[in-house]
Amino acid sequence: MRPPYLLLDIDGVLIPFPDAAGSAPATHARHDVVPTGRSADNPVTVWLDPDHGPMLMDVIHTGLVTPIWCTSWRQDAATLIGPLLGLPPLPHVDLPRPQITTSHPNGYLWKRDYVDAWLADAPAVWIDDDFSGLDHAWAAGRTAMGTPTLLVQPDPRHGLQPEHLTEVTTWVSQLPRARVA
Ligand SMILES: [Mg+2]
Repeated sequence: MRPPYLLLDIDGVLIPFPDAAGSAPATHARHDVVPTGRSADNPVTVWLDPDHGPMLMDVIHTGLVTPIWCTSWRQDAATLIGPLLGLPPLPHVDLPRPQITTSHPNGYLWKRDYVDAWLADAPAVWIDDDFSGLDHAWAAGRTAMGTPTLLVQPDPRHGLQPEHLTEVTTWVSQLPRARVA
């Protein structure tokens, strides 16, 4: 079996949602970035945990997964967010910009149909804070059909924790490996 994709969300995963008092976790550092399409005098403030870079690199260096951004930051993930964490430029799923007012317009995560088409029959572990029950059912269905699929869902107020990546590496390690010719 080829290495599964590791699909990585940003908002609610690497950038936690502020708590009720409007604060980010003390572990996170403030950065101002200018997303594509915004003017330089109108930056967006983001909060990032500098430990996340090395944590993710430890997983990437295992060679057991193929990392790819899957976020509404789209190409800005690789050019703006990744470098702030010391990550190499990773490819991204080219998500569209649907006119939606909820992240679950059909009861499941809006990204999922695009991810499903993009993955085809590739195994995947997907880290996102916003899965619904239907997304978990989708993952279970893929797995049952022989395409191992794991959803990892951080709490968006705390974001990615070390145990989430332990879950990823533990899951990947027990998958059947590609036979080396
Ligand atoms: Mg998110």
